[in-house]
Amino acid sequence: KESGKASWVRFEARMRHDMTAHARLAGELHDAILGGQLRLLYQPVYDLVTGRMHGAEALVRWQHPSRGFVSPADFIPVAEKSGLIVPLGAWVLREACSQLARWQAALGADAVEAINVNVAVRQLRETGFVDEVAAVLSDTGLCPANLIIEVTESSVADGPQVTDTLRTLHDMGVRLALDDFGTGQSSLSLLRAFPVDVLKLDKSFVDGIADGADRGRLAVAAAVAQLVEYLQLKAVAEGIESEAQLIRLRDMGYRYGQGYFMARPLPPGECAELMAAAPQAAFPH
Ligand code: C2E
Ligand code: MG
Ligand code: MG
Ligand code: MG
Repeated sequence: KESGKASWVRFEARMRHDMTAHARLAGELHDAILGGQLRLLYQPVYDLVTGRMHGAEALVRWQHPSRGFVSPADFIPVAEKSGLIVPLGAWVLREACSQLARWQAALGADAVEAINVNVAVRQLRETGFVDEVAAVLSDTGLCPANLIIEVTESSVADGPQVTDTLRTLHDMGVRLALDDFGTGQSSLSLLRAFPVDVLKLDKSFVDGIADGADRGRLAVAAAVAQLVEYLQLKAVAEGIESEAQLIRLRDMGYRYGQGYFMARPLPPGECAELMAAAPQAAFPH
């Protein structure tokens, strides 16, 4: 009983500590959004067959004045819990679309086709989200098809309101991608209920793909490729780190890919250089 009580006290203290740490980080994130401490990097998405850059995924970065670089894996969950993801996400959407418009103005509309933007479920639950997207598209002059909104399977399963929002966006011509595909629940039934355009195979299925050691993951990767073909969707493989993985995935039917092997997330200027460059003949056949 004594020790039970002691561990409860420890638990309570820990919780209080976590809550203040969380509250502090949320407060700082609020200042970061207003104070311009956020940046976007862009990771190229390549057509694995032609070697052309098809588009780029916007990935947010936080340069904290004293803590230094804070990973999105740490602050996105805080932003989601506190609701700050709504203004943060609004900034990301507008900045990413403006960047694509600048690239298209500088390099021609054919130089790069799409910008991928991650959108959290909290944003999709906001009643004004569709209007926000429409306003950004009209202000930046992008075609709706230039925008690919990345959502997770759990977002799609959130409920009828979110599904309606996604359907409306799709009807407007905005494209929808299911991110981290294969890691969530009920993937297959979702695909029938929801107008998805792109499936992004999660990196965890790409990791062991070249050595073939993990037959379970290999089977998922192959099944997803088949599904994409039957449903006439686009397949993107995430987290390609080697030439052997690239070849294996392309042979399986993955037309598009992202990963450190081709390019890391880059500042806009460096991404533009890759866009302007000739197609990556470097991709081995
Ligand atoms: P995600 O959307 O699945 O993005 C892919 C992550 O994999 C990125 O991590 C990217 O840098 C990393 N990655 C890409 N290729 C490779 C590779 O070859 N090897 C390895 N080891 N990693 C690779 P990042 O930028 O740290 O972002 C982590 C997650 O944070 C994202 O996962 C996304 O869920 C979230 N996130 C990032 N930016 C935003 C945003 O603007 N809004 C929202 N809601 N979430 C965001
Ligand atoms: Mg993503
Ligand atoms: Mg992903
Ligand atoms: Mg991921």
